[in-house]
Amino acid sequence: MSEQKVGVEEALKKPLPTPDGDSQPMWDGFKEGKLLLQHCGDCGHVQYYQQGICRNCQSPNLQHQKASGRGVIHSYSVVHRAPGPAFRDDVPYAVLLVELEEGPRMISRLVGQDFDSLDFDLPVRLETIKVSDELFLPYFALNECN
Ligand SMILES: [Zn+2]
Repeated sequence: MSEQKVGVEEALKKPLPTPDGDSQPMWDGFKEGKLLLQHCGDCGHVQYYQQGICRNCQSPNLQHQKASGRGVIHSYSVVHRAPGPAFRDDVPYAVLLVELEEGPRMISRLVGQDFDSLDFDLPVRLETIKVSDELFLPYFALNECN
């Protein structure tokens, strides 16, 4: 197999997250439709994305707690031009910067293509989408209940 061929195949594959020791509980939570955030037992800081220590006080005393899954759109952008061949069938799609109820901000994607309804401070809720048996990705849907 030529190197070039490998390159094309790799380019057609979407980059997927690789769960590690710190983030595995969060990825397990997504399988059950739950968002888990790390809470610091020393200073109370709540963080996303997961890591081994608190980003506020460097304490390793972190525990996962279930978040509400609700937030508001802090910022958004509609992508019309695929960033690579693997995303060609996805466009157009909206990338959201969601401010979670618990405080952290999270970059994600909108479920569906209701771009005309997008606005700042609009409520959204977590919806997880199955990519494989091992991996569910977090998306956000417009929260029409509010
Ligand atoms: Zn802390």
